[in-house]
Amino acid sequence: MDAKTLINESVADKFMRYVQVDTTSSELSDETPSTPQQWDLARMLEAELEAMRLEDVELDEHCFVLGRLPASPGVTGPPIGLVAHIDTVSGIPGSGVTPVLHRSYGGGPIQVGNGVVLDPADSPALAGAVGCDIVTSDGSTLLGADDKAGIADIMRALAILVNDASIPRPDVWVCFTPDEETGKGVLKFPYDRFKAKIAYTFDGGELGELSDETFNAVNGTVTIAGRSVHPGSARGKMVNALHLAGEVLASIPAGWRPETTSEREGFIHPTDIEGNVEQVKIKMILRDFDQGFLEAKEAALVRTLAAIQERYPGASVRWDGSMGYRNMKAELNKDPRVVKMALRAMEMAGIRPVIKPIRGGTDGARMTFNGVLTPNIFTGGGDAHSRREWACVQWMEKAAEVAVNLARLWAQETQ
Ligand SMILES: [Zn+2]
Repeated sequence: MDAKTLINESVADKFMRYVQVDTTSSELSDETPSTPQQWDLARMLEAELEAMRLEDVELDEHCFVLGRLPASPGVTGPPIGLVAHIDTVSGIPGSGVTPVLHRSYGGGPIQVGNGVVLDPADSPALAGAVGCDIVTSDGSTLLGADDKAGIADIMRALAILVNDASIPRPDVWVCFTPDEETGKGVLKFPYDRFKAKIAYTFDGGELGELSDETFNAVNGTVTIAGRSVHPGSARGKMVNALHLAGEVLASIPAGWRPETTSEREGFIHPTDIEGNVEQVKIKMILRDFDQGFLEAKEAALVRTLAAIQERYPGASVRWDGSMGYRNMKAELNKDPRVVKMALRAMEMAGIRPVIKPIRGGTDGARMTFNGVLTPNIFTGGGDAHSRREWACVQWMEKAAEVAVNLARLWAQETQ
């Protein structure tokens, strides 16, 4: 496509073009990218950045697409980065996506197709999109708004900036990344060539969402060693690790589980169990926004295991835990302007910001700990990772406007 077409193309048209490219990633591969089809969209995006005359455009060996829109003459504000991910989650079909545009949503359930219904009763955010145009799949696949809405938002913002030299901007770096859904792509992030130390991921979320917090994570394994004896002569001798495992699981307070917590509450979550009479291993993840609370949860678990151990002297009950990702908030606070500008950029677009901690980790959190302060901004999509996934066209337009406003605001700052 030529520059003129790309500049005039609406965010909805960009979005519907991108979702038709299958970019399903795979948990099973240790390569980056994890699947060859991610190259298809990466090449398309590289060509579009070239056509719009960005500089330093590059598609690297790990499928990261990079580019830089040079600063306006005389502007010396710090470079900023706009980041979105190319891949879509595995487990729900992601190839042959047929986007369907539902114009001027009147409220109530939307018949997505193939028996899939998008109902505001289950998706309350939809009520805020009455009167807007909604894009869904035809129900046979996911839509891929996570995160092609983010890509479309950023491409639309670049088109606006390229087309209107009167909007002041610092160097605006863009990076489209592979394998966000597997969590492995960001490990190959090209920090040496992406020259912004301030960036924003546009990834998921409804109008106005801003996330500057992620969980702190501990991942670990409970290993229970029992003693196996022929059941016919086991009396007083056998210690069945399976029964101890049952006690361990039952000891996790009902109010400390993912299925009973929300907002800022943390949890202990057994994810996997395998074993027999002799040995059982239980994998667990512990999460909390507050590091002190997380440590308290781990300490409580360790105390419980010690108590079980005491009741069964013939067994051995062990916990091996290690710190995973960390809450990015403390790091982001090192330059409070990063979040402040995001809030102002939204207010300039007439949006009331909603600060929402992410109950998980993000690529941005990893980047933040690697020196690129990166909170997350909404894209205009909802119900990710499902056949009911949707995106609101007017919200995507707003996200693009927020990105443009960020350029405008940072142009006025000093390094
Ligand atoms: Zn995403």
